[in-house]
Amino acid sequence: MTDMVAQERPLPNSRTTAERFDVLIVGAGISGVGGAYHLQQQCPGMSYVVLESQDSFGGTWLTHRYPGIRSDSDLYTFGYRFKPWVGAPIATAAEILRYMGEVIEENDLARHIRYQQKIVSARWSSTDNLWHIEAVRTDTGETLRYEANFLWMCQGYFRHSEGYTPDWPDIDRFKGKIVHPQNWPEDLDYKGKDVIVIGSGATAATLVPAIASDCAHVTLLQRSPTFFITGRNANDLANTLRELKIDETWIHEIVRRKILFDQEAFTRRCIAEPEKVTAELLGAVRAFLGKDYDIDTHFTPRYRPWRQRIAFVPDGDLFKGISSGKASVVTDEIERFTEKGILLKSGMTLEADIIVTATGFNLNVLGDIAFQIDGRPLDFAETVTYRGMMFTGVPNMAWVFGYFRASWTLRSDLVADFVCRLLNHMKAKGAKRVVPVLRPEDEDMPLLPWMDSENFNPGYLMRGMHLLPKRGDKPEWRHSQDYWSEKDELPAIDLDDKAFLYG
Ligand SMILES: Cc1cc2nc3c(=O)[nH]c(=O)nc-3n(C[C@H](O)[C@H](O)[C@H](O)COP(=O)(O)OP(=O)(O)OC[C@H]3O[C@@H](n4cnc5c(N)ncnc54)[C@H](O)[C@@H]3O)c2cc1C
Repeated sequence: MTDMVAQERPLPNSRTTAERFDVLIVGAGISGVGGAYHLQQQCPGMSYVVLESQDSFGGTWLTHRYPGIRSDSDLYTFGYRFKPWVGAPIATAAEILRYMGEVIEENDLARHIRYQQKIVSARWSSTDNLWHIEAVRTDTGETLRYEANFLWMCQGYFRHSEGYTPDWPDIDRFKGKIVHPQNWPEDLDYKGKDVIVIGSGATAATLVPAIASDCAHVTLLQRSPTFFITGRNANDLANTLRELKIDETWIHEIVRRKILFDQEAFTRRCIAEPEKVTAELLGAVRAFLGKDYDIDTHFTPRYRPWRQRIAFVPDGDLFKGISSGKASVVTDEIERFTEKGILLKSGMTLEADIIVTATGFNLNVLGDIAFQIDGRPLDFAETVTYRGMMFTGVPNMAWVFGYFRASWTLRSDLVADFVCRLLNHMKAKGAKRVVPVLRPEDEDMPLLPWMDSENFNPGYLMRGMHLLPKRGDKPEWRHSQDYWSEKDELPAIDLDDKAFLYG
């Protein structure tokens, strides 16, 4: 590891200089900002920089600006474990950005973050044990060079520049406006307009009630239904503890534990008694929509609860929108677009002034960065994941891929602890590199796709599975997506296990 102060040295055959850091963090979303905090706390003295292609921090919460944008996790667990959340559990993007801004300010992280720098390539060299990184300034086009001993990938899982829109027939014939929630135009005027929102996930469920009262009518068009869970946007335990004047640090910890305890029980029930849980979830929807509403067609998914994320609908706002008549749901498939709207496979037509394609994301495999290891292009699909954090044959790199069934940040905190422990271990050993390797006992292990589609199967993962690393059938080589086992397993990883090769 180099010293605390970043060093500069000229590149051969180039007048440009490369700035060198011990650690380079990719992305200033919730994971990257958390990573910077943990690194500063747990590895004092290590130099680091955070590079972010956008012009501010926040990642997901900066990119998405559609009306009503909010979390569907509670912020007691989506917030960092080290910074109490003091608001209502479900938060707007603006509230999350404010919270992250406080983390940056309170911990003096801003001077380490560089915005408008998009990393385009990263070349590992075993000669100097460094990543050689090129970033392009998004404002001037200038290329900047960095060197880092360790790369901490906090780039999230979807491409921020564009969302996923299926290639529907005749989409160009539509004379109205087509908008993806990921690129919501600030000046989009939907007042008094007929709007179709295509999609059935959390984004569609948030957007529909947020715009329904202003629109003439909003139709939620879905191919198949999603599970929703409703509840008040309040936490009774937190409120009681506040009344008792308990310190916010304590409230944060106690409420986190209670929520995680309840979520674990719920997850186990989803697996043990899916029919019963399904009946309960549908019963809650029926309570809002009444016994005559066609719940079977519009709100009864074909999959078991928890195979996809269950979207939270605070105070039943989506269902209230439907009951009021301002919003409706159509479950059907798109045949083709027309000048005025959409022709469905059933023969029904829907007309609209605006069509919103809340159809998901494009998977972003490691920041769309061109990677090389000692001169050879790296194909991540040929690697095997070490617990969803590192990859065989890829030295000095960790990736943060959070939880879907629990809050993403629970895992970004756990991975940060692991990375910091690994960096300190390398320092103590005098090692300049660490690379995960399959052990002799892993040689005959079957190699499977990154995620078991029986376990979790959202569209963007299914579309991009061929691009992702493989998984094995032992805990070390799996990406479990289970917070309740990983919270004990990750801190207990033996860093001298044969799965880590140091040099
Ligand atoms: C609308 C929406 C709602 C969500 N709600 C929840 C929720 O309630 N609970 C939950 O747990 N999860 C939720 N998620 C998942 C969510 O993405 C994560 O929880 C979390 O915010 C991801 O944080 P991150 O920092 O890992 O990645 P991101 O937020 O994706 O941030 C990654 C950052 O890296 C930058 N970056 C990427 N590539 C490069 C590069 N090559 N060079 C430089 N910078 C780069 C990006 O610009 C971005 O700012 C939601 C996702 C969406 C889209």
